[in-house]
Amino acid sequence: MSAAPQQLPLLVVGAGISGITTALEAAEAGRKVVLVEREPYVGGRITRTHHYFPKMCPPSCGLEINTRRLERNTNVRVCVNAEVTAARRTDTGWSVTLRHQPAYVNELCTACGACSPVCPAEVADPFNLGLARVKAIRLAHGNAWPRRFTLDRAACPAGCRACVDACTYQAIDLDAQAHEETLEVGAVVVTTGWSPYPLEKLPELRGGLDQDVIANVHMERLASPGGPTAGKILRPSDGTAPKRVAFVQCAGSRDVNHLPYCSAVCCLASLKQAVYVKEQLPDAEVTIYYIDRRAPGRNEDVLTRVAAMEGVRLVKGKVGKIARTNGVLKLKVEDVERGVLSEAEADLVVLATGMVSNLKLQAPPFGVLLDEDGFGLPGHDLGLSVAGVARRPEDVAASVRDATGAAARAIAATGRRG
Ligand SMILES: Cc1cc2nc3c(=O)[nH]c(=O)nc-3n(C[C@H](O)[C@H](O)[C@H](O)COP(=O)(O)OP(=O)(O)OC[C@H]3O[C@@H](n4cnc5c(N)ncnc54)[C@H](O)[C@@H]3O)c2cc1C
Ligand code: SF4
Ligand code: SF4
Repeated sequence: MSAAPQQLPLLVVGAGISGITTALEAAEAGRKVVLVEREPYVGGRITRTHHYFPKMCPPSCGLEINTRRLERNTNVRVCVNAEVTAARRTDTGWSVTLRHQPAYVNELCTACGACSPVCPAEVADPFNLGLARVKAIRLAHGNAWPRRFTLDRAACPAGCRACVDACTYQAIDLDAQAHEETLEVGAVVVTTGWSPYPLEKLPELRGGLDQDVIANVHMERLASPGGPTAGKILRPSDGTAPKRVAFVQCAGSRDVNHLPYCSAVCCLASLKQAVYVKEQLPDAEVTIYYIDRRAPGRNEDVLTRVAAMEGVRLVKGKVGKIARTNGVLKLKVEDVERGVLSEAEADLVVLATGMVSNLKLQAPPFGVLLDEDGFGLPGHDLGLSVAGVARRPEDVAASVRDATGAAARAIAATGRRG
């Protein structure tokens, strides 16, 4: 006999701030939850920010509270390194297949760190967006939770077992295999979030062609103490401190050739990053080129604060082209209102690239309806919800509100059936 819907767990796919919120809200209301994350750690994209607005605190502040809540709550089962590979509607909810990637490092890991120094293999660091190199076996980042090392098996030279020999906790199994499990769940909430729009798609702005033209997501890593420069804002090309930093708003956004929509947070992200630069390099000249400044609600305070900073200019103008001439980055700026073209120079350019829905890139198999931009539509089925940036571009506060609503919807879905 199959279980009543109320007894079935809820499934949350994606453990960014939205997924964690949905899972905790439902679990603290007494429901069992399975939280599935494809990365080796929870927290999603905000783990890669240096500080986050509006409070401008490090992301660990909010995340630590949430991971403690996850640890304490026996109603939540967290599955990292896992994805949903198949899903089918049933009378009581969904039958889903989870694929768990091989657990080369298991839960016996104490994060003692003895394995990394002996590892001979290095890989481009995915956490630092390829801006640094790390050992094949490592902690994914300083605040990673679950606090367990991760191993890129494909990078290991044949026959190497140095990490296994160094580990006194028997936490490493180089022969671990992927496995699948089938779960019956009452309702599904999809919180798969976003990926950055690729720099390489903006060659006219020298994206992907020039080391000193970076994206906003790279700036977060440059400013972060856990980043590739230990928190120093330096030009990637020569490791010097930039004297002139230009932020280019709407880079590949609100543009039919790229992302036709506004990602809602890029203006605030650049204003925040202007503060990073000025706090560290008080003499640097910072210019923010924008079409419209969007800083809704209480985030207006960030805009006012930055606009008043000495050495920060906000210039209304669209940067149409960036070139490197005689070693200098030159920006062609179009004053859209006056129809005038001007040129400016910079040592470091930060392109404010937008957020691409992960549902557009690789949707889990639930048949979520998408809008024309690839974000999930709510739909009429209470047993399938979408929350956070998977639904629309938004900041953390809005994602959390959305995710709380999704938890209530999923609970209502399972309460009503049967
Ligand atoms: C440059 C920049 C700076 C920003 N700074 C701020 C800021 O200071 N303050 C602020 O409020 N907001 C900021 N934001 C916005 C913030 O990043 C988002 O609001 C937040 O990430 C939304 O969280 P989320 O959980 O919806 O998505 P995400 O953070 O993207 O989390 C989604 C999770 O789902 C996982 N996932 C994806 N697909 C699958 C799958 N198929 N199976 C399993 N797991 C999957 C991902 O690995 C990830 O862990 C910034 C955005 C940008 C671009
Ligand atoms: S895998 Fe072993 S050696 Fe490496 S951090 Fe974990 S417990 Fe320590
Ligand atoms: S087996 Fe792989 S992870 Fe372990 S030490 Fe060798 S290269 Fe590094």
